Amino acid sequence: MRHVVTLIPGDGIGPEVIAAARRVLEASGAELEWEVVEAGETALQKCGSVLPSEVLESIRRNKVALKGPITTPVGTGFRSVNVALRKELDLYANVRPVRNLPNVPSRYQGIDLVVFRENTEDLYAGVEHTVDEDAAESIKIITRKGSERIARAAFEYARKKGRRRVTAGHKANILKLTDGLFLRCFYEVAKDYPEIEADDRIVDNLSMQLVQKPEQYDVLVLPNLYGDILSDLCAGLVGGLGVAPGANLGEEAAVFEPIHGSAPKYAGQNKVNPLATILSGVMMLEHLGENEAASRVMEAINAVLAEGRYLTYDLGGSAGTQEMADAIVRRLE
Ligand code: NAD
Repeated sequence: MRHVVTLIPGDGIGPEVIAAARRVLEASGAELEWEVVEAGETALQKCGSVLPSEVLESIRRNKVALKGPITTPVGTGFRSVNVALRKELDLYANVRPVRNLPNVPSRYQGIDLVVFRENTEDLYAGVEHTVDEDAAESIKIITRKGSERIARAAFEYARKKGRRRVTAGHKANILKLTDGLFLRCFYEVAKDYPEIEADDRIVDNLSMQLVQKPEQYDVLVLPNLYGDILSDLCAGLVGGLGVAPGANLGEEAAVFEPIHGSAPKYAGQNKVNPLATILSGVMMLEHLGENEAASRVMEAINAVLAEGRYLTYDLGGSAGTQEMADAIVRRLE
């Protein structure tokens, strides 16, 4: 079956890692056709908008996209295109698997957990205002609908993948109304999954435990902000941002992207690790039902990692982005 996929190269290192992933996915055996659209700084320069309507139209039409990272100015400038995309398409579940890969240097072994981050509300709703010169406020929004559907997504995943436990992270001891609602919804949804253990941790304690005993966690479910922060921490447990993939899932569409940003200081240097984007592509193949192609890419990645000859700088090697992708493509041919 032929799949039309929206392809967003993005900013900074985005075009390089997307080009690498595209070549690998094309060699996977799946029949893919790309519809390339620009978003972010690149789109702003070309057509005067960071999120042209054709981007949303393309994703709505194809229902699936592979996306490179997009730069968001810090403190000033336009609002995050990533946040806008997730809100516009109601991509409410941000799924970030965290797993050790062969030959990837890491402080821990035996890590295999998945972070479910709520992707549309919390402090990322962007309801912020200036009170006066010396004060500003931001409103944290948590709803029953948002909390129930992310909890359900995590439990459904656990059931499908035969996982044993889902842990909610929160700060309901302090934020009794917002995080309190998130936690209540979590336990209400958990009743529909009696075979799966459900428990919770206050997010500061969870952070410490993830550093000390990460192997004891299985599936984590968190509101947006904690999920954003802890999923980067989790990426650090297994080798860093260069190997951390992600998916943004909703009822109508799915957008796959590495969890790392546009790393502007490395842009155009053919230096960064393409694996996070390639692994996001593997998640996309599985989503499309192309399980055989996904397995083939995973085998090729594992073989290249085990061989250890074509690794990027973050994995202790000196290969460039495209050389590492070439090595994976050769294993697929
Ligand atoms: P970043 O993830 O871009 O980079 C932080 C550091 O991580 C880099 O300096 C590099 O050392 C390492 N790194 C990242 N990707 C790597 C890779 N593929 N291989 C090897 N090392 C890698 O984070 P940042 O510098 O905080 O953010 C830069 C920009 O990206 C900001 O504008 C931010 O808003 C944006 N951003 C976008 C997304 C997204 O599009 N989904 C996500 C996060 C950040």
